[in-house]
Amino acid sequence: MNSELWIEEKLEDFLGLRIRVDKTLFSGKSEFQTVDVVETRAHGKMLLNDGLIMVTERDEFSYHDMITHVPLFVHPNPKNVLVIGGGDGGTAREVIRHPSVEKCTMVEIDEMVVNACKEFIPQTSSMLNDPRVNLIIGDGVKFVEDAVKNGDKYDVILVDSTDPIGPAQPLFGLEFYENIYKALSEDGIVVSQGESPFYQEKMQNKLVEILHDTFPKVSIYNFSNMTYPGGLWSFTFGSKKFHPLKDFSIEKVKESGMVFDYYNEEVHQAAFALPNFMKKRLGQWLKD
Ligand code: SAM
Repeated sequence: MNSELWIEEKLEDFLGLRIRVDKTLFSGKSEFQTVDVVETRAHGKMLLNDGLIMVTERDEFSYHDMITHVPLFVHPNPKNVLVIGGGDGGTAREVIRHPSVEKCTMVEIDEMVVNACKEFIPQTSSMLNDPRVNLIIGDGVKFVEDAVKNGDKYDVILVDSTDPIGPAQPLFGLEFYENIYKALSEDGIVVSQGESPFYQEKMQNKLVEILHDTFPKVSIYNFSNMTYPGGLWSFTFGSKKFHPLKDFSIEKVKESGMVFDYYNEEVHQAAFALPNFMKKRLGQWLKD
């Protein structure tokens, strides 16, 4: 008898990524999704929402470094940062490493994700109690709508969301980005989880087209995510003023004295060099 336990994340009906699991630490069902935390054989603890891998302790650094430090080193003085989603806490943890950041508001719809990570994955969630982190349990779409009504402004907004299923669906819509634009300060930047450039072209096209229709500067950058299907993943970059390379200073990274496991000044620049299959498909919507 084979008693080995493996979790398989399926991408549609044609690809699977299998990870060996030793034991289940938490299993729950919220009003939004199933939430599981498991102990894996080789990737440390792993969070899954609706059976999809969100983070593993072993490689979460690549996602969290790249969603955070790329825009936070381009913006000259990010003080007020908004994270939509990001319930594991890894993005907020990286945001508050930047000394200019006075406040990081994080709006996660599912309290169960936050509580499970606080209990079982302190590696990502430990900074959620930091006084600069203002954790709000609520819908990010509604939160941004209200921010526009109240005239609240953010220097950087990071959309750290799940795939466009269930409550995350509107996070991939035009109306959401129109509101994001209005909720950003006059030199604001939005970076969003941009899906797989190889396997999820349609969703990526849609997101980049929406950014093209809402922002004067639009780019997309790649990074390696070892535990997402295919391993190649993207973040989109929409900006009112700053260009991700022309307004980037290598010295600023060096002088920060900050040490990262994935991000550095060369990786920042290289991430925007797109392979031709992406240039051909997305070039029509990218704006310098
Ligand atoms: N790194 C991850 C990935 O791409 O797989 C994302 C991690 S984070 C856990 C994503 C979070 O977005 C989930 O916990 C989910 O509950 C949250 N989320 C989805 N829709 C949301 C919404 N409308 N407002 C706020 N948070 C939302």
